[in-house]
Amino acid sequence: MSTRGSDSQTIETIAVIGAGTMGHGIAQVAGSSGFRVLLSDVDRDALARGIRTIEKNLAKGIQLGKVTEADSERTLQQIHGTTSLAECASADLIIEAAPERLDLKRDLLRQLEVASDHSFIFASNTSSLSITEIARDSKRPQSVIGMHFFNPVHLMRLVEVVVGKQTSESTVETICEVGKRLRKEPIVVKDVPGFASSRLGIALGLEAMRMVEQGVASAQDIDTAMELGYNHPMGPLKLTDLVGLDVRLNIAEYLYRELGTETFRPPDVLRRMVSEGKLGKKTGIGFYDWNKDKEDVRRAQSS
Ligand code: NAD
Repeated sequence: MSTRGSDSQTIETIAVIGAGTMGHGIAQVAGSSGFRVLLSDVDRDALARGIRTIEKNLAKGIQLGKVTEADSERTLQQIHGTTSLAECASADLIIEAAPERLDLKRDLLRQLEVASDHSFIFASNTSSLSITEIARDSKRPQSVIGMHFFNPVHLMRLVEVVVGKQTSESTVETICEVGKRLRKEPIVVKDVPGFASSRLGIALGLEAMRMVEQGVASAQDIDTAMELGYNHPMGPLKLTDLVGLDVRLNIAEYLYRELGTETFRPPDVLRRMVSEGKLGKKTGIGFYDWNKDKEDVRRAQSS
């Protein structure tokens, strides 16, 4: 499988760095789209876990009739695991899905550029860091770009293509084509804090929290307004509970600092709930009581 447009680069091999939540998902969709994939992780166990999760996802796909046995086998044959970063430098496109730390992402890019003169594209799956900053010390900043996937990667259709100050048009074109080959819908966004998705999503979430604070309606009714009135698959407060209130507070603080508009000032209710350990689903309580909801489900199932 290769991808080539008028002015774009040929992509045959994709290396994915980091086999965690996002990395293994990206490797799976790349493998199932026919690209040769190198999935790498510094941690041997994390790499094995990532590959096992891909196998499980494919097995579930077969059970649900969404994937054939042959597709599953072909996908797995395309994916090769490695703990060697240098090996990844031979790929045409390198997508990094390592932890969200600027120094780490910069260092990965530096090591890859030292390992090979091959003119790969380096795409970061960062959800908040500046692509221009990641590319700051790069020898080829025109080939550095953001490729922001959503979780779970094999189900979520959006890919946000983030254009750094020095990213070339041909790099953008190539990455949009790869996104489409991965059966995603690419949108092209300037390298600004929160890109498009987080900026809008957080604005909606924070306003919903302010409405709870002001007693406009209950959390459930505010969510229902967006679900039934606007066809959102999930209301902003339930989504906040799933993502984690602490995660949303961090992003809101970052956007408030960077963009300076009142829209992103974290509401008191969010700060208070985080300090009380009410972080959402992962702690059992947030805007919803997840333990109670589980009880309700158990009761409904046994009746
Ligand atoms: P994760 O912690 O699940 O996985 C990160 C993996 O990277 C781990 O397996 C770790 O062993 C590995 N790793 C650490 N240092 C490494 C190195 N030097 N070389 C190679 N591998 C290394 O993280 P994640 O949730 O998959 O997030 C990865 C990136 O994707 C972050 O930038 C995050 O902001 C972004 N992102 C996450 C989500 C999400 O919902 N989790 C959504 C969109 C974007």
